[in-house]
Amino acid sequence: MTEDTISFDDLGLSPELLKAVGDAGYTQPTPIQEKSIPLVLMGRDLLGCAQTGTGKTAAFSLPIIDILSQGRARARMPRALVLSPTRELAQQISENFTTYNKFHELGQAVLIGGESMPDQQRALAKDPDVIIATPGRLIDMFERGKVMLGGVKILVIDEADRMLDMGFIPDVTRIVELLPRIRQTLFFSATLGKEIRALADAFLINPKEVSVAPPASIAQGVTHTMISVPKLPKEKRAALRKVMAGEDVQSALVFCNRKKDISVLRNSLRRHGFEAEELHGDMAQHRRTETLAAYKNGDIKLLVCSDVAGRGLDIQGVSHVFNFDVPNNAESYVHRIGRTGRAGREGRAITLVTSEDAKYVDAIAKLIRVNVPIRPLSDIGNQEPEPVEERPQAAEKSEPKSDAIVHEKKESRHSTRGRRSESKNNGSEKIPARTSSGNGARPNRARDSERSVGNGRATSGDSDKVIGMGDHFPDFLREPSRPKRGGKS
Ligand code: AMP
Repeated sequence: MTEDTISFDDLGLSPELLKAVGDAGYTQPTPIQEKSIPLVLMGRDLLGCAQTGTGKTAAFSLPIIDILSQGRARARMPRALVLSPTRELAQQISENFTTYNKFHELGQAVLIGGESMPDQQRALAKDPDVIIATPGRLIDMFERGKVMLGGVKILVIDEADRMLDMGFIPDVTRIVELLPRIRQTLFFSATLGKEIRALADAFLINPKEVSVAPPASIAQGVTHTMISVPKLPKEKRAALRKVMAGEDVQSALVFCNRKKDISVLRNSLRRHGFEAEELHGDMAQHRRTETLAAYKNGDIKLLVCSDVAGRGLDIQGVSHVFNFDVPNNAESYVHRIGRTGRAGREGRAITLVTSEDAKYVDAIAKLIRVNVPIRPLSDIGNQEPEPVEERPQAAEKSEPKSDAIVHEKKESRHSTRGRRSESKNNGSEKIPARTSSGNGARPNRARDSERSVGNGRATSGDSDKVIGMGDHFPDFLREPSRPKRGGKS
């Protein structure tokens, strides 16, 4: 954000869009909006380096709506195409689009895997102006002759680095080859490594580069903590519970590296009285959608997930991200942690580190340019209640116990323990009886020093300024977090 306050009125948007933006509660454009909207309205190609949470969806959706509202859709020939790496992100973009499209009549279709083909074909039959799609399903529809791409005037490639990680680049390249050469392309990525730049060179013509977060930066307001824990899965799970018990967890994501560990951890947490659900790519799409909606609404407090939830999702009010496993790709750390501390709020990022994770921890420290000290588990309060005996997990081998277990400490207000809803239990699971005084968490108050850079908090030094929403702090963020509006096309 510049010193002079720029308002939405200064960006060249139509009165209808200004009204929709006002109705959405936005009072000021975010830095990415301020920089991108005028360029997109001018018809420029854009290379945007911005994380989700910076307002980038509106940065491309708002000008696209204004540009498209000046023409009309042709049969089966959408005029704008937004490519998203994940189904969840596509749905989220669609929800945003619906909000901004309130006073226009542009049609949209969301084409994502795992959802009904006939429904999507019906949406295509209405000749939508905009298609929001994951690459595989779009190609599928194209091959069935359900959509033609020769009328696309604006292409958005969102989360390009995630596309790369997920192996979608061949599909994206194929799609781009099906589009007219004369078009406007908006390319967004949270990071701009060499490969991403090479892709941008291939897809964009003389782009303007707009950056609101230096590559691989993390949001301000996130406190990073690493805790040394044993390798043995059962003990590692116990360590996680201990850490959680000492935290004021309002809403948390718990990341595992392997899908097979997600259900094990989720079941274990539930057996110990933590209200937890799971989210990963092997779930049916409707379950993914429902689970995510329940998490966003606050019906689920703890979501054990794979990296599918780590990228691109705009989930408000995530107080904690727990890395049950250190991600073995440092950029994944940035994306996982990007779920908390969003849009100016504070967040806690807590990573369990075993003796085998040293090289990954080093890679993370290098990437985020913050040296996060590894604390012993013993630093954390020791009053966890007696755990319920866990069933042995067939897949788990007995591993030697690590003696490195220590804790982090933090003032405990409420934890998520014992807050399971009855409907989730159905009486089928054994839940340990607890009393309010017996939930075991009586950790100490966090040290003040924990909030300095040297103690793990990513703050903006002179050279590595971390921006997020920049100095811009919209009024609505001072209000309590509200569930997002639902509704999709
Ligand atoms: P995004 O980065 O597009 O996922 O947006 C993150 C969140 O910021 C979404 O919940 C948007 O509704 C919200 N948002 C986008 N632009 C603004 C703005 N100018 N003022 C306030 N909130 C915004």
